[in-house]
Amino acid sequence: MTAVAEPTVKYKRVLLKISGEALMGDQGYGLHPPTVARIAREVKSVHELGVEICMVIGGGNIFRGLAGAAQGMERTTADYMGMLATVMNALGMQAQLEALGLHTRVISAIPMDQVCEPYIRRRAVRHLEKKRICIFAAGTGNPYFTTDTAATLRANEMNCEAIFKGTKVDGVYDKDPKKFSDAKRYGEVSYDECLQKNLGVMDASAIALARDNNLPIIVFSLDEPGGFRGILAGQGTYTTVHA
Ligand code: UDP
Repeated sequence: MTAVAEPTVKYKRVLLKISGEALMGDQGYGLHPPTVARIAREVKSVHELGVEICMVIGGGNIFRGLAGAAQGMERTTADYMGMLATVMNALGMQAQLEALGLHTRVISAIPMDQVCEPYIRRRAVRHLEKKRICIFAAGTGNPYFTTDTAATLRANEMNCEAIFKGTKVDGVYDKDPKKFSDAKRYGEVSYDECLQKNLGVMDASAIALARDNNLPIIVFSLDEPGGFRGILAGQGTYTTVHA
């Protein structure tokens, strides 16, 4: 009998960051359960490799603080609404992951005991050691931040080896590949170049926080079936942002 070789996995613990918009499918708003279920299956296939997984999901499919502020709402209130939107997304993802038999915790930066766990770093680390998927919700818990910064913060706190930023394209391009056919994909790009050229990987505070802690950001397409697992097993196309 021929033994099937298990893929060699470079990472032991990673954080997957996805925008809220990734959950809405073609609906244009809110959560599209089949899309959430598809992403949950991608996460499960990586979990099966033995990788410990943290997740941060944005809230832009429901509410963005800046949009509320632009309509005359006080910015801090609008940002709290955005943070609450991320909790709804986290619960939606938790439901789909658990439907696949995975063990998960939603961990919120804003305590809401009836809904999910409050963020306690040591407790979250213990969950990861027990192979539970930790979905960090409510961003950093502070207005004027984004979930990209929350993802970088939690990845550092959890000692993740990399942030995987799932997007609609397979990496970082010098211009929008959906608009320009001659757009070129970077295989690797430095934090400083991302900041100087405003390449749109993540917002500036998130990139600076990753740079200051030497945390690689791997940008890949979440629309590619098996793409997330493939990269962890050393295949596929993506861009690595590092020093
Ligand atoms: N937000 C915040 N503090 C944080 C994280 C998020 O105030 O630490 C608010 C902010 O208003 C933001 C909204 O939550 O617009 C949704 O997050 P984000 O825009 O990062 O979501 P994404 O674009 O990833 O879907």
